[in-house]
Amino acid sequence: MTDTRRPKAALCVPIALTFGGQGPPYGCGFPCLMSRIGRALRAVYNVPMPELPDVEIFKRYVDATSLHQPIRRVSIPAPAVLKGISAQRLGAALHGRALQRTRRHGKYLFVAIDGHAWLMLHFGMTGHPEYFKKTREAPRFTCALLTFNNGYHLAYVAPRKLGRISLTEDPDTFIADHRLGPDALALDLRAFRRHAAGRRATVKAWLMDQGAIAGLGNIYADESLYQAGIHPQRHVHRLSRVELTRLYRKMREVLRTAIRARVDPGRMPRGYLLPHRHRHARCPHCRAALRHATIAGRTAYFCPRCQPAGE
Ligand SMILES: [Zn+2]
Repeated sequence: MTDTRRPKAALCVPIALTFGGQGPPYGCGFPCLMSRIGRALRAVYNVPMPELPDVEIFKRYVDATSLHQPIRRVSIPAPAVLKGISAQRLGAALHGRALQRTRRHGKYLFVAIDGHAWLMLHFGMTGHPEYFKKTREAPRFTCALLTFNNGYHLAYVAPRKLGRISLTEDPDTFIADHRLGPDALALDLRAFRRHAAGRRATVKAWLMDQGAIAGLGNIYADESLYQAGIHPQRHVHRLSRVELTRLYRKMREVLRTAIRARVDPGRMPRGYLLPHRHRHARCPHCRAALRHATIAGRTAYFCPRCQPAGE
């Protein structure tokens, strides 16, 4: 895929470590799929921080491109993204093996390595995976690069190097060790209510707390609250049962809608806040001027008329 905004430089960082040698490439033909996913990923570049829908798109991308192919070479140009594992150990764990399947939990992507552990990928502020053929197409901020026997490459790209890569025995252990809450799309209403019980935090901070519910960040917490008509600074324990139920339903609807729209703001339904996250924008429902405020350290956008503050 080609992103015209990206300089056509090859890897601009030194290859710190490589494993394996060169093998004969063979064809791999899914141009239509690549093109479709490419468009989705270009849309992702406009979203500042990957959240659940973005990572779900990444998961589908890895599923469509990178499974069941032996890895002949592993390069780690930016070892700073590795957490709890050396480049040598990661390279040894991957070299000669294939990626078998993927699993997403919240904003985390786990990729099973055959007969071995799971690769854990977190995309930080601006990360994404990218699959490509020619070395000269390598994305500029590649932090880790797998080269498959078919000659294609899978890059883990993170311009600000704030992503994380590690190995884990199994995703459930990782989720427990990192005290992640249930995935926002795997959570039922009863569990949602149970997690909310007694929480004195603001509802925006609670939705973004990965230990409470895994998957939402600034953008989709705002969208869920906007669609539910709940002010982001209200306190969770003050929300009525009806409001909590509405928030739960809208949160899931928003996440599913974003995935269906391939996280492209231009494909979101009319009436979504997401394409209007800029100063001087108006509420797509009531045309009131949207407000923004710093809540839980992030800029929240909301409509003062559709999301009243009163408690
Ligand atoms: Zn409004």
